Amino acid sequence: RNNAEKFEFQAEVSRLMDIIINSLYSNKDIFLRELISNASDALDKIRFLSLTEKEVLGEGDTSNLEIQIKLDKEKKILSLRDRGIGMTKEDLIKNLGTIAKSGTSAFVEKMQSSGDLNLIGQFGVGFYSVYLVADYVEVISKHNDDKQYVWESNADGAFAISEDTWNEPLGRGTEIRLHLREEAQEYLEESKLKELVKKYSEFINFPIYIWASKEVDVEVPADEDDSSDEEENADTSSSEEGDDEDAEKSEDDDAEKKPKTKKVKETTYEWELLNDVKAIWLRSPKEVTDEEYTKFYHSLAKDFTDEKPMAWSHFTAEGDVEFKAVLFVPPKAPHDLYESYYNTNKANLKLYVRRVFISEEFDELLPKYLSFLKGLVDSDTLPLNVSREMLQAHSSLKTIKKKLIRKALDMIRKIAAEDPDESKIEKSGDDDEKKGQYTKFWNEFGKSIKLGIIEDATNRNRLAKLLRFESTKSDGKLTSLDQYISRMKSGQKDIFYITGTSKEQLEKSPFLERLKKKNYEVIFFTDPVDEYLMQYLMDYDGKQFQNVSKEGLKIGKDPKNKELKESFKELTKWWKGALAGENVDEVKISNRLDNTPCVVVTSKFGWSSNMERIMQSQTL
Ligand code: ADP
Ligand code: MG
Repeated sequence: RNNAEKFEFQAEVSRLMDIIINSLYSNKDIFLRELISNASDALDKIRFLSLTEKEVLGEGDTSNLEIQIKLDKEKKILSLRDRGIGMTKEDLIKNLGTIAKSGTSAFVEKMQSSGDLNLIGQFGVGFYSVYLVADYVEVISKHNDDKQYVWESNADGAFAISEDTWNEPLGRGTEIRLHLREEAQEYLEESKLKELVKKYSEFINFPIYIWASKEVDVEVPADEDDSSDEEENADTSSSEEGDDEDAEKSEDDDAEKKPKTKKVKETTYEWELLNDVKAIWLRSPKEVTDEEYTKFYHSLAKDFTDEKPMAWSHFTAEGDVEFKAVLFVPPKAPHDLYESYYNTNKANLKLYVRRVFISEEFDELLPKYLSFLKGLVDSDTLPLNVSREMLQAHSSLKTIKKKLIRKALDMIRKIAAEDPDESKIEKSGDDDEKKGQYTKFWNEFGKSIKLGIIEDATNRNRLAKLLRFESTKSDGKLTSLDQYISRMKSGQKDIFYITGTSKEQLEKSPFLERLKKKNYEVIFFTDPVDEYLMQYLMDYDGKQFQNVSKEGLKIGKDPKNKELKESFKELTKWWKGALAGENVDEVKISNRLDNTPCVVVTSKFGWSSNMERIMQSQTL
């Protein structure tokens, strides 16, 4: 085209497209849900803008917030149109090709190792999945602030942008035309598309229509009269032109003798609605099936593995602040959960106000350590027509946040409560599906619970209940603080723990000799974050924590202690003198060892040797 400007795809994007276009991945269907999800995002954006500026919606058809699918069998084109926000020329250049999303290279890597394209949407590059089924794609888009443009590419490393002077004006929004590959012709079948929309896009909150064919019976003149089109036309025109009475008369006469018309099938087209847009969170939890929650989770999280979420909580909060919410614990932690944890906002809850989607980057709703949860909040209390900044400062948010945290922690506690492995008591009717779930949860998200203990003083005790670890008595399994306390020896006041790099290393520690011999249980903390954790977790259930490699360990009274102290007085004195200048505060007689003659102990408020090691390697 004459006015086309050419652009090269950013290198990572180009690589991604190469892989997609050459992929043998069998589940090519996924492109449709990615396109619908983009259309829905674009519709959410314009609806949000319209809250404060009504006129952005435009008039007539343009103001209909909907998605339309059309099939052209002859030209082999599948097109999808939305009346969303649209893209300016600049948007088209940036969003579809020149700026790589942060997830692009991570996704390229993942695809090269697993070949699995299913998670493409989670990495923010879902659009490019169109090249699974098309070899040439046109994106026609009209944004309120710009003219209508066409983006086109056949995935050969470059794309072109032209001002659109030949297509029908869109009003506003985006139309994507996929020129389907020879082997992807099944996507021209209406039945196939209907099935896919049902399967993947059930929870899209905008109507999705398909330009559907319909067979209808029409009456046409009987055989002898319709031998040629010309004759038929002649008939009609003559009756229209005049002499109506005559024509009617003769028809009536004929009808009495024999029927002059017959029924034939004819194909007509009309828009057929494919989804039910009633929001799942507005329904009563009793009426929503497990399968529906699972599917809703998949679409919300763009997580299209077959895995079920580990747990969910669907509730209505009443009182001063009213809202409905659905929270999910995903089956797996996302690839970048703890990446630059302290520097980025990772809110995963979608915020709606009275059914209108507002934002998914609202980190005021959940604390950082719970950012692994997915879900949504729909509030009737928050105001609709205010700026985002005003919303962020709204006083109700604090209440919402507080309630969400409680519900979230409760949901996690229930995973443990319902897991037969946790209770150790075999109950009849134990749910096999729930078995081992808490260990699974712990392996995926345990670190988040620990970060919670560090960050959230208000809920520290609730979070400490969720803590799991191994110990000298846990027999290779995970155990909890409550279980530890139930096993404490009579007279034992403190909860004993030790920190280090691995359980294997810690088991050989001289610090454990005596404690093991006397049958005391010691917790192993082997994650670098545990050292920080234990600076915040001071006590639990009225019991103090004691690091057994630190000063202050009390394991029962030894009657000979005083005697020993006296008789070794000269030695300890000499020793302390000999170590003067070596950062040693004291040399003491102690009953903490058994076979090992002596050991270096850290002072109560100093760093443990493990902490020193961590600080040197800067693991966190
Ligand atoms: P993601 O949806 O995760 O951002 P995609 O690769 O699916 O990633 O889309 C890239 C970007 O292209 C989107 O973020 C959006 O800005 C833009 N985009 C794609 N489809 C549309 C559309 N139908 N209307 C408006 N913008 C769109
Ligand atoms: Mg997308």
